[in-house]
Amino acid sequence: MNFRLKSGFYMHISETQWYNLCSLRVGLGQVRLYEPENLVALREILQEIDSPPLIVARGSNLIGADNLTIMPVLRLPKSSEFAVVEQLDVCTFRLGAALGLLEAARILAARGCGGLAPLAGIPGSLGGALAMNAGANGQEISSLVREMRGWDLRLDRPWHWFREQGGWGYRQSPIAKDVLILEAVLELYPVQTEDETALILAELNRRSLTNPKGASAGSVFRNPSPGNPAGRLLEQAGCKGLSHGSFQVSQKHANWIINVGGKPGKAEDCRLLVNDMKKRVLDQSGLRLHCEWKWADDA
Ligand SMILES: Cc1cc2nc3c(=O)[nH]c(=O)nc-3n(C[C@H](O)[C@H](O)[C@H](O)COP(=O)(O)OP(=O)(O)OC[C@H]3O[C@@H](n4cnc5c(N)ncnc54)[C@H](O)[C@@H]3O)c2cc1C
Repeated sequence: MNFRLKSGFYMHISETQWYNLCSLRVGLGQVRLYEPENLVALREILQEIDSPPLIVARGSNLIGADNLTIMPVLRLPKSSEFAVVEQLDVCTFRLGAALGLLEAARILAARGCGGLAPLAGIPGSLGGALAMNAGANGQEISSLVREMRGWDLRLDRPWHWFREQGGWGYRQSPIAKDVLILEAVLELYPVQTEDETALILAELNRRSLTNPKGASAGSVFRNPSPGNPAGRLLEQAGCKGLSHGSFQVSQKHANWIINVGGKPGKAEDCRLLVNDMKKRVLDQSGLRLHCEWKWADDA
């Protein structure tokens, strides 16, 4: 439902279950979802709630919870303020965090700017890609980022990051806890629109052939090192086909969990399966795997 705030701006507030916000369809707990029209509305709502809400975007790397009390959750809607596309220079753009990564890649390609095609098949928003330092085909989003602007939800003040500050790592970003990214400045390079569009399409086709089918949250564990993929270790440890509740390790890719049937599943079952996979690899190879996903319970 849309609420008109004292400021005159709107906030959409709804109640739903975690599984409706997560691509893996996981988490039976209830959430109160806040979707502010703009930053003024967001700041007004921050005054009303006790602790910062958990940030969710497209939920393609987020595992919901089975919480018994309602959790406050914040999502940027695709309003004009949060999905801005502004050209600052030939191939330098200010982009809103609520834009989809694929959408951003297509918009920039249409304007003759390239660099996002290798990442275009990663599901989710630009904000989520920045928070996770999403990567594919040997490239990470961090290589394109010049600046980020956000809002510190705990301190209720602006947050900025500039390239010189660094802080990126493998699936790690310099974004501090409780900072909501609002926008980023990306630097791309000139391309022919048709060439870049063809690269995007090729990447989407490659993924449709290689990614296991069904509801998922992408790879479960980080690769311990470049030459040592987690998938191989998990396969050697006999993880393919293991299951708990609605969740099963894919037969195609041992570092991938599918929600079989796509029905709502308990976060507890998902956690049991992940822990089982981890233990088997530890027992078999002595290596401790680290989960790539973000868990609502751990936030
Ligand atoms: C089929 C499939 C394939 C995938 N392939 C890849 C891949 O090749 N490479 C890869 O890196 N990942 C991959 N992923 C994982 C996932 O798509 C990425 O991590 C993606 O960038 C997450 O974006 P999201 O918008 O869904 O974020 P969410 O899953 O909603 O959120 C992820 C994290 O980012 C935080 N976050 C989201 N938005 C913001 C914001 N605006 N400000 C601050 N924090 C924010 C959330 O709090 C959460 O901690 C895949 C997932 C699936 C389902």
